[in-house]
Amino acid sequence: MNTYNHNFSEFVLDLPREVDREVAGDIEKESVFVSPFIERIHVSEDGKTARVVVRPGADLDETKEKTERFLAVMVRQITGFEIKVFVETKRKDTGPYQIGVNDELVKRGWMHDYGKGQVAYSGPVLKLAKLINDKAGELYKDAFAAKESHFPAMIDADTLHKCGYFDSHPNAVTFVGNVIEDFDAIEEFRRANSCSEGALMPQQDHIHIDGMCLNPAACFPCYPTLTGQSFDEGQCFTWLGRVFRYESRNINGLDRLYEFNVRELVFVGDEDYVRSVRAKALPVVEQLAAFMDIDCQVQTATDPFFATVSAAKKFWQASQEVKNEIKIPALGNDGSVKQLACGSINLHGNFFGKRFGFTCKNGEPAQTGCVGLGIERWVLAAFTQHGFDESRWPEAVRNIIFA
Ligand code: AMP
Ligand code: ZN
Repeated sequence: MNTYNHNFSEFVLDLPREVDREVAGDIEKESVFVSPFIERIHVSEDGKTARVVVRPGADLDETKEKTERFLAVMVRQITGFEIKVFVETKRKDTGPYQIGVNDELVKRGWMHDYGKGQVAYSGPVLKLAKLINDKAGELYKDAFAAKESHFPAMIDADTLHKCGYFDSHPNAVTFVGNVIEDFDAIEEFRRANSCSEGALMPQQDHIHIDGMCLNPAACFPCYPTLTGQSFDEGQCFTWLGRVFRYESRNINGLDRLYEFNVRELVFVGDEDYVRSVRAKALPVVEQLAAFMDIDCQVQTATDPFFATVSAAKKFWQASQEVKNEIKIPALGNDGSVKQLACGSINLHGNFFGKRFGFTCKNGEPAQTGCVGLGIERWVLAAFTQHGFDESRWPEAVRNIIFA
C-alpha cells in the first residue's frame, strides 16, 4: 500500500483478463461511479492490472471486493469490431491544432466555466454555437423538410423509464427535488438559509422527488407527442434540445459538460424511410464539416453504457451497426490528439414506435432514428482546428463569428 497525496492510498489488482485501450478507457471513465471512496482507477499500459486510488476512510476489503465486481463486468466487453468509416473530410487550414482552447476562451472573456459542468458563453463562442445550430437546422430543413419543434428541459421519469434509460444509463440521471408541501418544513428551510453563509439544503426527509428528471437525451421528449399518430409518409422533426447528464468527476471544459445543447433530428416512418434518412444524413454532416472546414469522420460506434449492462448492449449496438458517430479530432489536456464524439446517428428500430404507440404503413409500429449534434463539442473542435488567428477560419464563418 502506497501513500498518495491528499492522504489518498492505492492498491493494484490483476484484471480478470488482459484488455485493449478501448476497454481500458471505459474502465477509467466509468471508475468514478464505482464507490464514493474510489477517486479513480487507472489501467496499466499493458492492460493487465488496475491501480485503484482510494479516498481516506475507505473500508479496504469492501472497496476491493466492489472493484473486483466492477472489473469483472467491464472486462466482458468484446471489442475489435471492424470500424467502418462512412465520411471523411479534410480541412484546408494548414495551421496547427490549438492547445488549451477551454482556458483561452475563459481568458478572453468569451466563456465562463461555473466549475460543475456548466458554461456561459458570449461573443464569438455564442455566435459560433448559434451558427452551427442554425446551419444544421437549415440543412435538415432542405434535405428532409424537417419540422422545427421545441421540447421542455425536464422530463417525466415514466417517459425515461419507457425509453429504457434507467436500464442503460442509471448513473447519468438527475432527479428534481422539491421541499415538501409543509408549512413548518418550508419555514425551517427559509430560516436556516436567511442567516447562513452558504446555501443549506433541506433535511433529507423534507425533500420529495416525484419523478421529474432533467432530460438526458435530446430525442426522448419527442416520443410522447407522437402517440396515436400514424406516419404513412415518414416525417422528420428538428430542434435544439437542452441535455443534462450527470458525469460526476469526468466533467471537463466544453468536452464533457453536465448541461449542454444538442441540435436534434428525429425521423419517423417505415424501415425504408428511416434507412434512407440515415443514408442522406451522411452527406449533410459532410456539408456541415466542409462549411466549418474541419477534419472529421463518421464511423461505426457504441455508447458508454452502465457497467453491468455495458458488454451486452455494446455488443448488440456494434453487431447491428445501429450507431454511427461523428468524430472530430481535438486535443486532450496533455496536447495529444483525441477523437471528440461531436454527434451520433442512431437507428432505434421500432422500439419507440412500440413503446409510445405510433405507427407507419399497415398500422405497424413505426421505426425511428435520430441525429444529435453536440453543439459545445463542435465549438471546441472548431476552435481547436482553427485557433485564435481569425484569418485561418473559413471566410463565411469568420465574417459571422468575429463580426
Ligand atoms: P449521444 O446521444 O450520447 O450520442 O449524444 C449526442 C451528442 O451529445 C454526442 O455525440 C456529443 O457530441 C454530445 N455530448 C454527449 N455527452 C456530452 C457531454 N457530457 N458534454 C458535452 N457534449 C456531450
Ligand atoms: Zn436521439
